[in-house]
Amino acid sequence: MRKFISTIAGALLMFTVSAPLSTVAKSAEFFSIGTGGPTGVYFQVGNAICKMVAMLQSAEHGRKKGTDKAYRCSAPSTGGSTYNIGQIMEGELQFGVAQSDWQYHAYNGTMPDKVKPFKGLRAIFSAHPEPFQILVGKKSKIKNWDSMKGKKVNIGNPGSGQRGTFEVLMEAHGVDTSYFSAASELGSSEQSGALCDGKIDAYGYTVGVPNSGVRQATDGCGASIIDLQTDAVKKLVADNPFYAWATIPKGTYKTSKKDVTTFGVMASVVTSAEVSDDLVYAVVRAVFENLEDFKKQHDAFKDLDPKKMIVDGVSAPLHPGAIKYYKEKGWM
Ligand code: GLU
Repeated sequence: MRKFISTIAGALLMFTVSAPLSTVAKSAEFFSIGTGGPTGVYFQVGNAICKMVAMLQSAEHGRKKGTDKAYRCSAPSTGGSTYNIGQIMEGELQFGVAQSDWQYHAYNGTMPDKVKPFKGLRAIFSAHPEPFQILVGKKSKIKNWDSMKGKKVNIGNPGSGQRGTFEVLMEAHGVDTSYFSAASELGSSEQSGALCDGKIDAYGYTVGVPNSGVRQATDGCGASIIDLQTDAVKKLVADNPFYAWATIPKGTYKTSKKDVTTFGVMASVVTSAEVSDDLVYAVVRAVFENLEDFKKQHDAFKDLDPKKMIVDGVSAPLHPGAIKYYKEKGWM
């Protein structure tokens, strides 16, 4: 909680979904959920959670079951997974959305050059699957990983999950950025524009399906997603519990003429062991009591299933506030 509670003014400036002002008594508690770029799916996850918190509070306002504490939730756009984990560690964010590979590496300290080791990281639940997608421009002539050699490629902004995962992919293939003629670091809301303008030939993005940013490139200028099934990718999937094969079904975007096979991770919602059990319990309860509404907030959430959400992609220990709710529901 530490520093963040003191930044109430900052929180008010951010996009805030909350209970009506009249319900905010002196015991209001502010918290923030780090997301990703404004056109990504993490932004939808964070703001859907805030909406569920506000819905549960207003439904229970004045009823005995309702908490007398008002929660004010904000879900600002951020750099992505590894940025969110770092800010949770600093106490600047209470929650964040993060790829399951970066959750794993942060908790286990296994890739300290890409994500800060953080033993206090706690999982809450996972949301949607995120295939790692390489989008290639219509005129790029890129068909597979090998034909990316010598092309202009966006590897993602530092702090994003795709940046780290792209680096892992390059290392797995025994190359670095010199494999490309240029490697840019554009954020997720800039990459489709750059691809359509021909400034880059390809970009890598770990994101839920469907996604409006990807659609801008596929439906907007004929870009497509390539298969990623090299021997190096097969080894990554075989050797790491947080990677799995993923399919982007035919028909997802205008240029999806066939199923695309790639590897992927889960988007997980994480927090810190220092965040109170009460707050975590309140957030988890708001999401699961309203899960049918939550699933309607974005197409990527339509298959969410509570029993899978508390197991799949959860590689840090679950927070005790979440465990309390899952036990009450008989899920654990
Ligand atoms: N997977 C991306 C990341 O970790 C974010 C995707 C999104 O914004 O939906 O940064």
